[in-house]
Amino acid sequence: MKTVDAILNRALVGEDLSPDEGVVLLQQTEPLAITAIQETANQLRCQQVGDVVTYVINRNINFTNICEQHCSFCAFRRDAGTDGAYWLEWGQILEKTADAVQRGATEICMQGGLNPQAKINGASLPYYLQLVETIKKEFPQLHLHAFSPQEVQFIAQQDGLSYAQVIGTLQAAGVGSMPGTAAEVLDDEVRRILCPEKTNTAAWLEIIGTAHQLGMPTTSTMLSGHIETPQQQIAHLEKLRSLQQTACDRAYPGSITEFILLPFVGQEAPKPLRSRVGRDQPVLSDALLLTAVARIFLGNWIPNHQPSWVKLGLDGATEALRWGCNDLGGTLMEEHITTMAGAMGGTCMEVETLQNAIGSVGRPYQERDTLYRF
Ligand code: SF4
Repeated sequence: MKTVDAILNRALVGEDLSPDEGVVLLQQTEPLAITAIQETANQLRCQQVGDVVTYVINRNINFTNICEQHCSFCAFRRDAGTDGAYWLEWGQILEKTADAVQRGATEICMQGGLNPQAKINGASLPYYLQLVETIKKEFPQLHLHAFSPQEVQFIAQQDGLSYAQVIGTLQAAGVGSMPGTAAEVLDDEVRRILCPEKTNTAAWLEIIGTAHQLGMPTTSTMLSGHIETPQQQIAHLEKLRSLQQTACDRAYPGSITEFILLPFVGQEAPKPLRSRVGRDQPVLSDALLLTAVARIFLGNWIPNHQPSWVKLGLDGATEALRWGCNDLGGTLMEEHITTMAGAMGGTCMEVETLQNAIGSVGRPYQERDTLYRF
């Protein structure tokens, strides 16, 4: 307990923890130690960002679930022409966007499967540009939070372009920020089992770093609670922290806006990983401890922390507000990827529901935009 106190005291005076110290915190099982970690995370959250809890009115649009990859946790992907495969028409995308605007959305979050057929004139980038232009032409005021590092790599590989060319072109067309998804756990041993066809750790870091250099903000995520160890969790956080330090030190025009913890939901995931993990829903206590440690480890550099109500349910996500989080995420309006994996948090939140959840922990709420401006 002495060691834990010493580590937490260092954090409370504003020092960055070492990876070893982070691992010590994650390995605690005694209730007293866990309470001390929670209280420290909560205090740091208050010092770093205050008491206000934010949310964003947004809509997810997953334009296709046809994907050439086979991530072992993914229940969303389909092969073209098989049951449940879909690929939205331009008109459907516009309809969904118009509905979102009518419901007050300021952001469209757009990601999809890696569909090699999604091309215009034989090239992938023009298809993605058409997605952007379809939305931005009618609704220029909307912030487009779109295309993960995995999608950037896919486009670059399909068309023989550099990451900078892909990101710069999407940015010029109107993409405002990049989801920091596809990070899963930034450890190539874990990735070999979880997502062997996806970008490796170095490429994910390179793409996010390139976005920052080009002035495109990104989020950051971690898929937790499957086969990874505490050491791998902290190494992941360390990589995110150092990406952000680089963006600050070099005064890049873009940086990481938030950290989102995504606990693994395995209910409908392909059987091998599901059996290996041995449970269908996240363990809330594990997710909360990691939430608190992420605040303590990252908060000096990445001040905004968001739980996933889709993965944890609204009650679990609301509880995470007491463990270092200061944001409750978006209304989403529709969520497919995790819901198809068996998540029970729902697919849509009304603004009032989010506000009431925030109020239930005695904190004030405030709508934000994608970049945390009020
Ligand atoms: S997680 Fe994404 S890249 Fe992996 S199989 Fe599913 S849709 Fe494809």
